[in-house]
Amino acid sequence: MIAQLSRSAQKHPRRITAAVAALLLTGAGGAFAVAAFGPDAADLPVRQISYPVASLADGAPLDALEAPGFSLYRSELTRSSDTAESLLQRLGVADPGAAAFLRSNDAARQHLLGRAGRLVSVETTDDHRLRKLTVRWAPDDSNTFQRLVVEREAERFTARVESAPLVAQTRLAGGIIQSSLFAATDAAGIPDAVAVQLAEIFGANIDFRRALRRGDRFSLVYEVLEADGEPLRSGRVLSAEFLNNGKTHQAVWFQEPGASKGAYYTLDGQSLRKAFLAAPVAFSRVSSGFAMRFHPILQQWRAHLGTDFAAPTGTPVRTVGNGVVAFAGVQNGYGNVIFVQHDKAHVTVYAHLSRIDVRKGQSVEQGQTIGAVGATGWATGPHLHFEFRVDGKQQDPQIMAQASAAAAPVSAAARPAFERLARNMRVELDAAARVQQARAE
Ligand SMILES: [Zn+2]
Repeated sequence: MIAQLSRSAQKHPRRITAAVAALLLTGAGGAFAVAAFGPDAADLPVRQISYPVASLADGAPLDALEAPGFSLYRSELTRSSDTAESLLQRLGVADPGAAAFLRSNDAARQHLLGRAGRLVSVETTDDHRLRKLTVRWAPDDSNTFQRLVVEREAERFTARVESAPLVAQTRLAGGIIQSSLFAATDAAGIPDAVAVQLAEIFGANIDFRRALRRGDRFSLVYEVLEADGEPLRSGRVLSAEFLNNGKTHQAVWFQEPGASKGAYYTLDGQSLRKAFLAAPVAFSRVSSGFAMRFHPILQQWRAHLGTDFAAPTGTPVRTVGNGVVAFAGVQNGYGNVIFVQHDKAHVTVYAHLSRIDVRKGQSVEQGQTIGAVGATGWATGPHLHFEFRVDGKQQDPQIMAQASAAAAPVSAAARPAFERLARNMRVELDAAARVQQARAE
């Protein structure tokens, strides 16, 4: 950054002075975007940073800092209630022409207004007229993002939508459990999607809903997908370590050469994928800490056995293992219910569904969506009633998952490559643990 600065300082001495002035004008403790200098700022990353700046309040003459024609840079998140005027106002833009353009332009209306949570950056003149506006978003799960650029050319504006590849960056993080997994990941600034992956990776071995202990700790390495340096989406967890109740669990993502997809393994190459998942709904903020076990409606129903998972109506329900649908329809207290026969002895039951996506006799694969959470039958509110039966007897799904057979370990042919990866991940996890420890102290 320093080298780049000095290089462009020779080319653009005046822009540097102007940007420094803009920086001072933002006042003490403000968050602002630092412009990247270069022939075309749009080609370079713009980073959002928070930076304490000395106050100019003690009589420093602002006039002395002003240079004609300098640029101001600001960033803001969009809100769903935004109008062109309210958004520009938060961005410090006073420019009726720009507001009129945003209102009338299809791309701006579609991608900017009424979309919450998108980071918008603007460059304005010193009299707060818009020079350039940029907003970026990832339209789907592909590895590309879109960029809308609105730019002033003479006295009119143009808008263009561009597409560019996301860049994966690696992050190290860690945390200590005080109350719940999400409380810990929130405190560490870890995105929800990464917290959910963590719970899913270790789902068969750690009961994140019921068995976390205060003082449990974790470290992880994960990908963040960036657009022009702005983190847009979290990617995959690459490796993780979780200390639960005195026992250490480790995972590393590895793709066998020639395999269509990868999977998680322990650092000594054993698969973490089991024949049964512990939970028929993905881990979420709602399900974490849920303890409702019994239905208060009817005496005989109250005596029923099963595990209830809190989740909003419509949440996808997945089968915990490969099998065949033995029943899909309505049964009294169960409401809409699906029975999946996994083998001669093992049957799982998914009840109170709002929607059934499978038919009797259909083959289903572990993790496949078979219906959606609801409140049909004797349910006091939306939740999934789940039963794991072995020879007709109710069993704890967490224990069944943990005890079930694991998928194949890393193959002999892929061992050397896996060993190298595991060694690197060991080093990165140690670094993540030190980062976490330093934060805690
Ligand atoms: Zn129940």
